[in-house]
Amino acid sequence: MGLTDLMSMAKPNLESREKILRKLRGRELINCFQCIKCTSGCTALKLLELKPHEIEKLVNFGFVDELAASDIIWTCVTCLKCVQRCPQKASPYHVIVALRNLAVEREAKVPEAFMKAVSQILETGLAEAYQKVTTRKMEVCDRESLKLPKIPAPKEGFQAVFLKALEER
Ligand code: SF4
Ligand code: SF4
Repeated sequence: MGLTDLMSMAKPNLESREKILRKLRGRELINCFQCIKCTSGCTALKLLELKPHEIEKLVNFGFVDELAASDIIWTCVTCLKCVQRCPQKASPYHVIVALRNLAVEREAKVPEAFMKAVSQILETGLAEAYQKVTTRKMEVCDRESLKLPKIPAPKEGFQAVFLKALEER
């Protein structure tokens, strides 16, 4: 059953809505007047089962639990275009991040790629793993063979600060 069908059977949960509003701190979700500027510029629109302005509206009405349990919130590519375009400081990006945080609190299944990215950052301080390059002669070279400087490991305390920042988002 798709999320849209599931939503038609859902009931609003005002307590969960309050939780999201608290997480949004200063974002005016309530002021969203459905102008659709966010949706018209959304990079992930084709992948989203619900459009960004629809997510906004559903959260405003209290249909939070279904969204927090769905895959849809992990499809946003966090390009922040909707933050730039929204005339009401109500951007879907922040709502989606708040829904992701709620999903993690509820121990919902987080896509593997996100868990990998978090481990990678904790381990190396980098969002992307080191890349090797292939020369015109089809030789594969790493940083060492190219005589590039070693990338330093993250400073002491980095992991604790990173995990705290994740919690606060
Ligand atoms: S979130 Fe902002 S841009 Fe999107 S529909 Fe609401 S007011 Fe318009
Ligand atoms: S941040 Fe997400 S919802 Fe907003 S425009 Fe980008 S992909 Fe779409």
